[in-house]
Amino acid sequence: MKTNRDGRTCPPWCVRDHQADSNLLGCVGAKHSTGQAGAEAMLPSTRTIPDVAAWLHGPADLGIAFADSPYRAGKLAKFIEFAADAPKDDLRALAAHVREAAAEVWPEQEAEAC
Ligand SMILES: [Zn+2]
Repeated sequence: MKTNRDGRTCPPWCVRDHQADSNLLGCVGAKHSTGQAGAEAMLPSTRTIPDVAAWLHGPADLGIAFADSPYRAGKLAKFIEFAADAPKDDLRALAAHVREAAAEVWPEQEAEAC
């Protein structure tokens, strides 16, 4: 049975070699990637529920979205499929709208620092 440094049992999909680098406590699944985009399962050491993360590499940073259930992973996949066919101007406006909505909910916090 594979475990991390703290003795927590890894999920069957964890591909991390915790013995080779004991500083990495969180578990990760295989990377599924194409070009600048990818997805992987992850289980941070502080959580009990895994996430599926989807990321896109930008020119100077990484954009990432998480789903913490099969339902949300399905919704995330559908969002990405719809975004692939959406006008670029709509997507850039959507990014601004997400920041606006976040500022309404968490006015005292900077989004990039969270
Ligand atoms: Zn692990």
